[in-house]
Amino acid sequence: MAKRDYYDVLGLSKSASSSEVKKAYRKLALKYHPDKNPDDASAEDKFKEAAEAYEVLSDETKKQQYDRFGHSGMKGAAGGGHHMNMEDIFSQFGDIFGGGGGGFGGFGGGGGGGSRRRRMKGSDLRIKVKLTLEEIAKGAKKKIKVTKLIQASGVEHSDCGQCQGTGQVTRVTNTILGAMQTASTCPSCGGTGYSITSKPTGTDSNGMKREDEVVTIDIPAGVEDGIQLVMRGQGNGAPIDGVAGDLLIIVEELDHDEFQRNGKNLHHDLYISFIDAALGASAEIPLLSSKAKIKIEPGTQSGKLIRLRGKGLPSVDSYGNGDLLVNINVWIPKTLSKEEHKALENLRESTNFKPELDHNERGFFEKVRDLFS
Ligand SMILES: [Zn+2]
Repeated sequence: MAKRDYYDVLGLSKSASSSEVKKAYRKLALKYHPDKNPDDASAEDKFKEAAEAYEVLSDETKKQQYDRFGHSGMKGAAGGGHHMNMEDIFSQFGDIFGGGGGGFGGFGGGGGGGSRRRRMKGSDLRIKVKLTLEEIAKGAKKKIKVTKLIQASGVEHSDCGQCQGTGQVTRVTNTILGAMQTASTCPSCGGTGYSITSKPTGTDSNGMKREDEVVTIDIPAGVEDGIQLVMRGQGNGAPIDGVAGDLLIIVEELDHDEFQRNGKNLHHDLYISFIDAALGASAEIPLLSSKAKIKIEPGTQSGKLIRLRGKGLPSVDSYGNGDLLVNINVWIPKTLSKEEHKALENLRESTNFKPELDHNERGFFEKVRDLFS
């Protein structure tokens, strides 16, 4: 099923400010919240859809990626699994409804039965992936070793003694207006509601340790240098019931011997002899996955551009392939044998060898402008 545009989902224009994004999401989250719409699957879908849109548009990096590449820029890896589960959505709420101590009246935290425990979130990891143009043309699966924090086995925990697992401590103060009860984050557990009671040696205070993991990254065809892909939940883990951070993958494009890239288009410099240029010939052109033959017309000038449609790179949002632009360079010999010298000397005064531009021949800049306009 085609996904709706995130801006449409939130009812915003592309120029919406971050506070407008927040406001629009807040309104939708209240309207479609499952507590208000029990057993209403379409409300739940709308709730999730809004949360997903908010998740992207409230994050500057993800928003930029989305603005440039649409939904396909977002699928990153994780098999297109960008869907958020309810826990992810509720963990967003801290942010949107003022979180922390105050909280948001009616709605409970994710599955915590109304508790206000703070769930730890693992930090994001960032890695670089180097790709050849051939890999970019087809899309690639890359196995990369990532060192991440994970929860060691054998870690035990119990409810925090100070807050009895609620993550909050309440305090009653007598004021001029009577007794007032205030709630604040438990200082002992930092709001998580638990304390670690036993952990293996070699782990940190939360029972976490570093471990290598091989992650398979699914890179969509057509990515560009500098693009950042996001694999949700593949970053550093978090203790106990925490949520793992994300793995951010930054694409680095390797230089290619035969091609230069310009967006979806590829450029290739072809050198031909001036004999071939004058008499016509056929020439072989490298492609990213095979080869092509092109015809050199008799009388071909240096600087002629030949366009091979669709032989460029796919676009990341799958709107068709770019082209391969072959730039013809006529090679002039730098040394000549006596015979060659004589043969050419005989042609020097021939009128056909005198440069003569007809009106249809345009300069280099004009040609480039025509190709890209
Ligand atoms: Zn506590």
